[in-house]
Amino acid sequence: MVESKKYTLPALSFEYGALAPFISEKQLTLHHQKHHQGYVTGANALLEKMEKARSEGSDLDQKALLKEFSFHIGGHRLHTLFWENLAPAGKGGGGAPAGTLAEWINRDFGSFDRFKKEFTQAASSTEGSGWAVLTICLGTQRLLLMQVEKHNVHVYPGFKILMALDVWEHAYYLDYMNDRAKFIENFWNIVRWDVVNQRLESALKS
Ligand code: MN
Repeated sequence: MVESKKYTLPALSFEYGALAPFISEKQLTLHHQKHHQGYVTGANALLEKMEKARSEGSDLDQKALLKEFSFHIGGHRLHTLFWENLAPAGKGGGGAPAGTLAEWINRDFGSFDRFKKEFTQAASSTEGSGWAVLTICLGTQRLLLMQVEKHNVHVYPGFKILMALDVWEHAYYLDYMNDRAKFIENFWNIVRWDVVNQRLESALKS
């Protein structure tokens, strides 16, 4: 029997200051250690609540529990994907996609510039707190944009996420104040395209 586990905060593959000036050390530290950690802690607290109720034989308020759990799980998964698709500018981050990803972006969006424009519009117009995401529909073999509100609303179930951008205010407010557009513009300097391409290629093999 495999032992079950708790959620853990993943380490970043770069130093906290490595994404500056596009994301400052202070902003990234807070985002990773406080906000992302908060979703990990929240998900684990709910796992403990489930275990406790099961051992006691007491009922869980499933509707409230699962709504909250979905929020924390979504937050944890999306942040993990987000960190992995970032890299310091000029050291794996920025530039343009290559390989399969470049071909698919050109086929589905017409050009890389058109893709950037649409992704930017999706990220800019996300209401309240949420995410802009590039995903793939394996059924139709198409790249699609997804605009996730909070961490869990408007999700296409089962679609693999290829690239994620966090547009919650906590992602950029220290560095950009209310200028979300500037944060999105600067995101293109730190996108790790090789990871996005690997995710596409592994989705196509699955
Ligand atoms: Mn965040």
